[in-house]
Amino acid sequence: MNLHEYQARTLFRAAGIPMPDGDVATTPSEAETIARRLGGTTVIKAQVHAGGRGKAGGVKLAGTPGEAGEAAEKILGMTIKGLVVQRVLVVPAAEIASEAYVGLIMDRATQRPVLMVSAAGGIDIEEVAARTPEKIARLGVDPRYGLLPHQALGLAFFLYRDVAQARAAARIMEQLYQVFTANGCSLAEINPLVTTPEGRVLALDAKLSVDDNELDRRPDLALLRDESAEEPSEVQARRANLTFIKLEGNVGCVVNGAGLAMATMDLVKYYGGEPANFLDIGGSSNPDKVVNALRIITSDRNVKAILFNIFGGITRTDDVANGIKTALAQFPVQVPIVVRLTGTNEAAAVSILQGIGMTALSDMDEAVQKVVAMVQEAA
Ligand code: GDP
Ligand code: MN
Repeated sequence: MNLHEYQARTLFRAAGIPMPDGDVATTPSEAETIARRLGGTTVIKAQVHAGGRGKAGGVKLAGTPGEAGEAAEKILGMTIKGLVVQRVLVVPAAEIASEAYVGLIMDRATQRPVLMVSAAGGIDIEEVAARTPEKIARLGVDPRYGLLPHQALGLAFFLYRDVAQARAAARIMEQLYQVFTANGCSLAEINPLVTTPEGRVLALDAKLSVDDNELDRRPDLALLRDESAEEPSEVQARRANLTFIKLEGNVGCVVNGAGLAMATMDLVKYYGGEPANFLDIGGSSNPDKVVNALRIITSDRNVKAILFNIFGGITRTDDVANGIKTALAQFPVQVPIVVRLTGTNEAAAVSILQGIGMTALSDMDEAVQKVVAMVQEAA
């Protein structure tokens, strides 16, 4: 789950990370009022789950409260990377002498958080990593000991020669590590971390992604979810208790089990197709889940055919067949469906499907080849 900057900065500030005070507005007049309260020059920033807002015109400086209102007027309603801006953050403008990058991500390969810093901040870190990887310093943090002060200081000296600035940056890195671990994050990022002409070190942006698995433990964080900023099909799927990720392809996939879902996507690609989604209906038997899955997949206009790949263990294949039958009776499905199922109650499933004029395959390769051929014909 991604947090908005205004949400993340609250957690950053609570951990002691130096950031200018500010507030969030949903209308130009609210933005003007906040700017008047803050005084001086302010920055008006689009609150969307996307980077590169600066480049897209979603970050504007305002010299007066009136200008802050005007900037908010321009930014509110703007579309950035497909996301409509519904809120702006209003903060006092800082003077910038330099911009650096500090980020923490969970690295699966080494099974630990990795702290990355670069003096080339303010721009996309992906770009820096691709073009000038030597400008990024990395440190894997042993979660048993956490980020040790001398490690943070070592990285901070990669950013700053000045001892006071390096000390300040090291402290910020330790605070960022605290935020990261205390909130079950998969990513915590400050870009830019700036120095001011007077030599202060400040965080001017805040980005946090919380691992969805943390949310059962932390209902307070779960409340920060902004469903209006998320992919609608993924929101619908979460409500239906389905594990669903929308992808760019045209083969809709309904599978039981995450491992089988991954294998199915691999096989779709192997035979020249592109999966439209990852979808795991889970281990339990419940025809409703199948109905919900079909409803979500068929609402994606890219989908040209749907593949069911069910390996019945705890999941009863007859429940899945009943789900398909119920769905087809409830709403029209305009695209062909290929069903591969095997395992628990297979004979019953086959006869349910036969009853509605469908055949079930039992071989996974055959089913995948068939569905890929169908989307290629449709193209
Ligand atoms: P992003 O582009 O979506 O990551 O948005 P950021 O919050 O990082 O802002 C983009 C850029 O706007 C920064 O890299 C800065 O150059 C500029 N910016 C943001 N806040 C301030 C500020 O307080 N003062 C000044 N002068 N520039 C700012
Ligand atoms: Mn940024």
